[in-house]
Amino acid sequence: MAYQALYRVWRPQTFSDVIGQDVITQTLRNAVASHMTSHAYLFSGPRGTGKTSCAKILAKAVNCLNPHDGEPCNECEICLAANENRLNDVIEIDAASNNGVEEIRDIRDKVKYAPTEAKFKVYIIDEVHMLSQGAFNALLKTLEEPPANVMFILATTEPQKIPATIISRTQSFNFRRISRQDILERMTFILKDKNIQYDEEALNIIAASAEGGMRDALSILDQALSYGDDELTLKNAQEVTGALSNEQIVSYMTAIADNKPAEALTSLYQILASGRSALRFTEMIIRVCRNLILYNSNSDLSKQMDNSVMTQELLDIADKFDNSRLFYIVDQVSATQKNLKNSNQTDIYMEILTVKISEPKVTPSTTEETTTGNDDKVENIEIDKLRDQISHLQSEVKDLSNGATPVQQVSAKPKGHHRANNNTRLNKTAIYKVLGSATKGDLNNAKDIWPDLMSMLEISQRAMMRVAQPVAASPEGIVVAFDYAMWFEQVQDDSEFLRELTDNVSRLMKKDCQIVLVPKADWPKIRKEYIDNNIDSDNKDKVKSNKETKKTDPTVDEAVKLFGEDIVDIKED
Ligand SMILES: [Zn+2]
Repeated sequence: MAYQALYRVWRPQTFSDVIGQDVITQTLRNAVASHMTSHAYLFSGPRGTGKTSCAKILAKAVNCLNPHDGEPCNECEICLAANENRLNDVIEIDAASNNGVEEIRDIRDKVKYAPTEAKFKVYIIDEVHMLSQGAFNALLKTLEEPPANVMFILATTEPQKIPATIISRTQSFNFRRISRQDILERMTFILKDKNIQYDEEALNIIAASAEGGMRDALSILDQALSYGDDELTLKNAQEVTGALSNEQIVSYMTAIADNKPAEALTSLYQILASGRSALRFTEMIIRVCRNLILYNSNSDLSKQMDNSVMTQELLDIADKFDNSRLFYIVDQVSATQKNLKNSNQTDIYMEILTVKISEPKVTPSTTEETTTGNDDKVENIEIDKLRDQISHLQSEVKDLSNGATPVQQVSAKPKGHHRANNNTRLNKTAIYKVLGSATKGDLNNAKDIWPDLMSMLEISQRAMMRVAQPVAASPEGIVVAFDYAMWFEQVQDDSEFLRELTDNVSRLMKKDCQIVLVPKADWPKIRKEYIDNNIDSDNKDKVKSNKETKKTDPTVDEAVKLFGEDIVDIKED
């Protein structure tokens, strides 16, 4: 049997299994027990805090044939079907990959039809903030006149991006970060159950680096165990948690010291893509700077260094900084922290910060030339200037990763430049081949093995793949979409890594299976091109003359084949 990632094996199956969200789970249990559930819920909170787990449990509990105090029994046929993801009345939609209006319109049309097996039809929409404005409008219409026996559970890590009109029609729950103590207890429980020897301090390190996410904690634990032959030692935990952060901070600080903004941005993107929060990262930069200042000052003060963020590699670059530069960096980072706390656009602030501190210090006189006494204006001009620089640097970063020398004229049109490059990288033939025999079942299989695939990768590889998900699959191949074009390019150009991915997938699938990559921004267009190209003119006429008999509409057939009947509505009247 394929190796199963810990967080999947230990995914909670009842409300009382859910760790660290007692108020929420108790409220939901009471609602189920007293048949007072709402028709729409909004679950928001950081990743890995139990939102999707609770959504699945709630969907099961309201439909369970034999519930106890609001808990699902996990024994009746409905519970069993739900646990095996084969209950047709529970429909999971990942808005990150289905953000089109049409998918939501399909829900709107289909929602009127009663559930087929269970009491309630439950739509779980994950990452709901990714829906387009049009899709939100369509969803709102449904929420305004909710049909009987339908429940919507919307889950999001970014509730501030959801229209107030939607929020006001839901019952909203805020999932908290899980406390270090709760994470520790859960890991201890699992290790004892699996009869695995462990070091207490190792568990502490893992709990700390999980930043309140149970899924992250269990993934790190998985990795540490695979390093250590099923024994958890302090050294393994340090390697797994520290390798990432130390390596990253050293490369980031080195680029800053060498005044290389393009390289500094590259490591910033890696750090953000690996799931570190921007705020945590700024805290780390300040701690590192403090250490470097102490180290540079004199030997007495250096005894007060914070050893948790100090490595030999960092001390080795200490003499690249003088203390006035370090003070300047600390000032800039603290100023950015204030902005981070009040903004959704944390990535942009981090980019601006990175460019600022990786350039030689700006002297006050250069800003005075542009100043007319209006501080806001100066600030805006400066931000615009930095944004221009960043988009230019992004092109440079890409060229660096291509092994080419930086091109000067690209800064004018960085977008067009990206696209041209992606088009030459895109392997449409391979994508079309997968789409040619794609089915929803294959896509579900791909999603099923995905976490296991991730746990087979090295940390740095996993960091890149964190922004990628399968969006279509056939028996022989999987199309994987990347949130950022830059990561798509990096992986696409790394033939060795691609081969490794394909090998691992084939091993998990127990058959040959290709991996084909696509930037997420291009995916809807490619999907549409494929569907359009695969209707011959003959069929097109038929579609026109015969619109109401949807079964013969090749576009619908094609779409159904790709994405399944729950997304594409093909009702028979
Ligand atoms: Zn049941």
